[in-house]
Amino acid sequence: MRTFKELIKSENAKIGQGTLIFSMSSEKNCAAGIAGECDLWGKGVKGCYAAKAEIQYKNNVPQFRDECEARWKITDSFTAAEAFLAKIKSARTPIKAIRFNESGDFHSTECIDKVIQIATMIGELFPKIRIYTYTHRKSLFTHLANAILPKNLTINISDRKLEGFNSFVVDKEIRVKKGKGFKGALGYIAVQKQLKEKHNTNLICLGDCSKCTLCKITHGKTIICPAH
Ligand code: SF4
Repeated sequence: MRTFKELIKSENAKIGQGTLIFSMSSEKNCAAGIAGECDLWGKGVKGCYAAKAEIQYKNNVPQFRDECEARWKITDSFTAAEAFLAKIKSARTPIKAIRFNESGDFHSTECIDKVIQIATMIGELFPKIRIYTYTHRKSLFTHLANAILPKNLTINISDRKLEGFNSFVVDKEIRVKKGKGFKGALGYIAVQKQLKEKHNTNLICLGDCSKCTLCKITHGKTIICPAH
């Protein structure tokens, strides 16, 4: 099995450069889906966006994410923080953020505590690096609500509300436009006006995390994202 450092990804089309990514599992093994706490789970390309890569690149993405899950479960927070720090120091592009879970979710309260400890250790050396993730784990909300999060960590609550946390809500009726002229973030721009009017907010997902910090700063408000 590869080391924790070797399993930290440094790029993804939506998340962009300058962000390190580590996932606690695949979409297929997502703890929120298995617990019945996410209604986007198990619906293939029509559901969670994390499923798409697992279907499109079925010979390597699921295997890679399974390896991440196995490694995550046996790695303590100190070793994981050291791996991130080594990756930050050797990165060619300055690291501005760390994203947990482009697929998957917290397995348990221990996972939440591990992320808090990792963020705290990274924050001591790199306080400006934002660490963020998302969770559908309703059954872990009490633990989250009682946790003390370091300033550099933002946990977005997917599709639900939790006092003091950002909510990240996918509008399942308004879908990112695909096809000619709507590549990548352009598909998001095409539906932005519709989302703004429908939800009466300016906090709309841009579809390009390299240019947006809405999910990386804790503001306690609701961010609306089109289905994608
Ligand atoms: S709201 Fe911004 S930071 Fe959050 S997922 Fe969308 S583009 Fe990325």
